[in-house]
Amino acid sequence: MELIELIRQFARKQARLVSHYPRGHLTLAGTLCGIVLVLLVLPLGGGEDEAKSRTEIVLDIDLSPDLERSVEPRQDQTDELAMSDFIITPEIKDQPKLEDVTLWQNIEIKSGDKVSAIFSKVGLSDQDLFRVLNSSDEAKVLNQVYPGYQLDFLIPVNADGKGELEQLRLLKSPLEGFLFTRNNNNYDVESILNFPQLRPTFKVGTIADSLFMAGQREQIPAVTIMEMANIFGGVIDFILDPRTGDDFSILYDEKYLDGEFIGHGDILATQYTNQGKTFTAVRYSNDEGEVGYYNAEGESMRKAFLRSPLDVFRISSNFNPNRRHPILNTIRAHKGTDYAAPRGTPIRATSDGQVTRASRNGSFGNLVIVKHAGGFETKYAHLSKYANGIKKGKRVRQGDIIGYVGTTGSATGPHLHYEFLMGGVHQNPRTIIDKLPKAESINPAEMDSFRTQTADLLKRFSNMNSTTFITLNQPSAD
Ligand SMILES: [Zn+2]
Repeated sequence: MELIELIRQFARKQARLVSHYPRGHLTLAGTLCGIVLVLLVLPLGGGEDEAKSRTEIVLDIDLSPDLERSVEPRQDQTDELAMSDFIITPEIKDQPKLEDVTLWQNIEIKSGDKVSAIFSKVGLSDQDLFRVLNSSDEAKVLNQVYPGYQLDFLIPVNADGKGELEQLRLLKSPLEGFLFTRNNNNYDVESILNFPQLRPTFKVGTIADSLFMAGQREQIPAVTIMEMANIFGGVIDFILDPRTGDDFSILYDEKYLDGEFIGHGDILATQYTNQGKTFTAVRYSNDEGEVGYYNAEGESMRKAFLRSPLDVFRISSNFNPNRRHPILNTIRAHKGTDYAAPRGTPIRATSDGQVTRASRNGSFGNLVIVKHAGGFETKYAHLSKYANGIKKGKRVRQGDIIGYVGTTGSATGPHLHYEFLMGGVHQNPRTIIDKLPKAESINPAEMDSFRTQTADLLKRFSNMNSTTFITLNQPSAD
């Protein structure tokens, strides 16, 4: 862990250098960096035990370098840790000379910052700003900047000590922006469009308390855990189903630009073993560019009904229903499932449908009823309030928030009372859902394309899982 973090930090520093310095001047620095990195990745004495117990594998080191891909043509890679992984020449056509290099000033826009004040801070006048502003339509973006934007100024100093704005780079994000280059009294504009390098990262976790805590322990980003819970939302109720000892794995992209981490990407494949039953999902983009998650047989993970009506991940990072809020699964007593959850937890429609009621109803308190195709109906009771726009007649999509957990009606503590009816008869949603018609699958005509796109990924994913889980289960050396 420390080793990988060290390499990353090193790479980030390098990347920062590279973003603003011409490549030629970095050859020496790059070589030195390479030596240090090679030293860092050589086996270290005493590191074996740690490696054994580690459950995180970062693929960009050596596990599967050929999975790494980029929207751009790929960089050449050497057998060692390729420096091209870390050093990418920035896409600036006219690279500044070394003397100019120190003149780049990079300023990140903060809340409340004014562009004119920033201009004056770097020694430029309002007139300089107007000159850029009036040079092109694109330059009008300077009139409306947001926190997080970056302004880079190149102001070479003349012999008499005065500086003139030679280039101005505005980055809306690391991936997108404009470069303004002085042309006499005017500025030419070029779009900047960078493509991130995608590095698949493989992580596994085991449930000891909650899914969220498991994710945190393994340093899996919260958004990625939520995405996984969404992918499996049709087959696992992440409030009632998880058990201690369940395990999961996720292969997801991390985005890099010039070697610097810039954000998390999509889940490529994921697996969750719940009470001994394993679900696997792989990302697939069809001919129309629609993205979905499917099992290896091409069956969609998206089912007619969500398993859980609660969107528990939206409210609390460490809500653990099993430990702190006993679940009363009291079907027989009052024909519903009670989900104890903190007040205000968002409640979502478990399937597409139309709201037939959103009003007070005796002991149910604030009640929402949704009618679905095929004679199904779902009821959501004791809500603290309805979601915006939820009223009789409103059409909802699966997953739409319809209200929030509360204690209205006869409820001793905050909980959602959820009912599921088929043809007017109460059903236990936890058993009936398995009997519903199968979810949509990949069109038979598209199965070849599906297999071509996913076979390799699934095979690798399966290898990663078996390698990791075997390692995890090995008895320790002592
Ligand atoms: Zn109830």
